Amino acid sequence: MSAYLIRDVSILGADATDLLLDGGVVAAIGAGLTAPDGSGDTVEIDGTGLVALPGLVDLHTHLREPGREDAETVESGTQAAALGGFTAVHAMANTEPVADTAGVVEQVWRLGREAGHCDVYPIGAVTVGLQGEQLAELGAMADSAARVRVFSDDGKCVSDAVLMRRALEYVKAFDGVIAQHAQEPRLTEGAQMNEGELSGRLGLTGWPAVAEEAIIARDCLLAAHVGSRLHVCHVSTAGSVEIVRDAKRKGWNVTAEACPHHLLLTDDLAETYDPIYKVNPPLRTAADGAALRAGLADGTIDIVATDHAPHPHEDKDCEWAAAAFGMLGLETALSIVQETMVDPGLLDWEGVADRMSYAPARIGRVADHGQPIEVGAPANVVLYDPAARRTVVPSESASLSHNTPYAGMELPGRVVATFLRGTATVLDGKLQ
Ligand SMILES: [Zn+2]
Repeated sequence: MSAYLIRDVSILGADATDLLLDGGVVAAIGAGLTAPDGSGDTVEIDGTGLVALPGLVDLHTHLREPGREDAETVESGTQAAALGGFTAVHAMANTEPVADTAGVVEQVWRLGREAGHCDVYPIGAVTVGLQGEQLAELGAMADSAARVRVFSDDGKCVSDAVLMRRALEYVKAFDGVIAQHAQEPRLTEGAQMNEGELSGRLGLTGWPAVAEEAIIARDCLLAAHVGSRLHVCHVSTAGSVEIVRDAKRKGWNVTAEACPHHLLLTDDLAETYDPIYKVNPPLRTAADGAALRAGLADGTIDIVATDHAPHPHEDKDCEWAAAAFGMLGLETALSIVQETMVDPGLLDWEGVADRMSYAPARIGRVADHGQPIEVGAPANVVLYDPAARRTVVPSESASLSHNTPYAGMELPGRVVATFLRGTATVLDGKLQ
């Protein structure tokens, strides 16, 4: 295993220093470091102009395996993750078969270990088959080799209040969390895009903000009632931000995520009728986006999560109403956060480290990720060039699917290197 000596790098925006990764850990930090004794194969990297961040942690990734290996595999999805600066991803449970047993979550966990590009933490389904009728084997998944702590029916909402209450109560025993896809099903039957003047004009069935906000409000009350942990997936409306802010003010154990596409893109893109912009929850208004960015800046929204949702060509290249919901996110997340949060001065690099590494690791109860870059910490590190500019080319993605909404867009920043426990998974922007 090589050691890496990174010269003149800025750790989280601080003054440039040298950073030595050796033996799987951050071995030394300081000016004028020398290569470790007896190590003939120390690789020196010029870190001038680069920012070192802790390895990113995604709490919301769809890897599609098992079952939809035409869209993504654990191998391809974790390659995309490494290229995006991630050292850990949480894999959503809506696979085929659904990850609702110890057997399936262990399979996904093992595939992640074999791929080796980043650590994969399977998320367990809350209900059997995502059917919303009976609780899945939450305890068995928690006790399995995958040690599941995050449970979600994502893609579907646990809309039955009694089941949601039971799930929240059940996971307390092992400090788990329920990650809710907040979508009141009756209010969103046939929904295609954000409900508003535009959905009426385009003739597309609206997905109203209240369908998200009503579930979040209910779940916050339930979590407080049973004293459990709730995590709200992909918050997309200004009203949802207010509800989460209020819950936190009351001291309730509620965390929330925002997705890069909701930070940057708005519902008027539906005017193109291009289903590349079709996502669930839908792109919202500019005012909603501003509220999300403000909430992420002040900590109401705890984390950025990608909701990376690969779909093959045939599921996206069709008319809007028939197309699948979802878009890629892993390889562009950090650039979108720079564009929407760092460059406008809403977050500094310490804030980015918190929202994209420390906090998601804490919510997912992942011990070996999300730690500050300090001597002795696991060497999970990203080197990022914020001054670079790049144009997004879908065919260059490591993902098996190419449904990125940023095609042709020029974005700031470039991941130069990603280290997982001191091993380079990406060097010079390329997979190792
Ligand atoms: Zn979802």
